[in-house]
Amino acid sequence: MSGDIEHWIRPEIRALSAYHVPDATGLIKLDAMENPYPLPESLIEPWLATLREVALNRYPSAEAGAVKRSLAEAMSVPAGQAIVLGNGSDELIQMLALALGAPGRCLMAPEPGFVMYRMIAGFTGMTYHGVPLREADFALDLEALLAAIEAHEPAILFLAYPNNPTGNLWDRAAMETLIQRAPGLVVIDEAYAPFAADSFMGDLGRFDNLLVMRTVSKMGLAGLRLGALCGPPAWLDELEKVRLPYNINALTQASAVFAFEHREVFERQAARIREERGRLHTALAAIEGIEPYPSEANFILFRTPAGRAGALYEALRQGGVLIKNLAGAGGMLGDCLRVTVGTPEENRRFIEVLQAAVGG
Ligand SMILES: *Cc1c(COP(=O)(O)O)cnc(C)c1O
Repeated sequence: MSGDIEHWIRPEIRALSAYHVPDATGLIKLDAMENPYPLPESLIEPWLATLREVALNRYPSAEAGAVKRSLAEAMSVPAGQAIVLGNGSDELIQMLALALGAPGRCLMAPEPGFVMYRMIAGFTGMTYHGVPLREADFALDLEALLAAIEAHEPAILFLAYPNNPTGNLWDRAAMETLIQRAPGLVVIDEAYAPFAADSFMGDLGRFDNLLVMRTVSKMGLAGLRLGALCGPPAWLDELEKVRLPYNINALTQASAVFAFEHREVFERQAARIREERGRLHTALAAIEGIEPYPSEANFILFRTPAGRAGALYEALRQGGVLIKNLAGAGGMLGDCLRVTVGTPEENRRFIEVLQAAVGG
């Protein structure tokens, strides 16, 4: 039996470990970049009214045209650019790898970066190549990236803007150089666009090989699982061929159209989160030995005193607050933790417990 598994499950799959989601029962959940604010009470009944119209016995709309139209408007997708929808942007990353990947082909991203790039490269037999960011400030190392591009000719280069888990936006001129020099597709992953001061959405059409990826997850709809890949129709028509026809379910389609109609609600929530991010950053910086990094996202990466990240993470968990421990991965984040911006009350509790743990 186990011999069969070793024979049939591909070695690159056996080498992976399944994506682990920690149990957050009873804890203040500041680990996964969720928006802490639910749909406002006043919108619950109108939302349920739209769901009542959904015919669960029928397949959802295969092309999800209504979702695309409202998303294009809400996210300012330039006219003439196409959209492919995914069951979260994770699925879009997988579709890109399915369409462009082949053994020996390279998927590249700066490191530390979003773990799904590496994982999905693994599923599809692509070669993953991570290029280290500058250690001092997590800036792009343009020289190193250009050298890696030349050496490995990536089929896909992912640039998360802002980057996860570091939270920063990279130098725009360096990004444009990379887009121009990359031989394959460059996908700018703008999962944190609601919290960031810049975007490449308006640059679609300036480059033949540029796609911009968005998601509704971080803006307050993580439960819907909806992502969008935007860019030149010539590329997206090909990607559309690997999309499973009904990947966006009927409840998600109806809910997304409803949410985009009420997008000012999510924009107000994002504004509150950005404000709160400033306060949280100041509070972190005031704790002796804690060094928060600048953030354009809804989370803050911070450095702890050397060798203490694991213990502080545990102390926070004991104190009822779940954040993300990045120390396990070692490397330049060996002393780092990442906290999602929560409500003012949640953030206060987080700071209280951290302060006590660092001092104690
Ligand atoms: C959270 C995150 C995503 C995943 O988004 P989903 O739409 O929820 O799958 C994609 N990219 C980055 C950089 C993220 O941090």
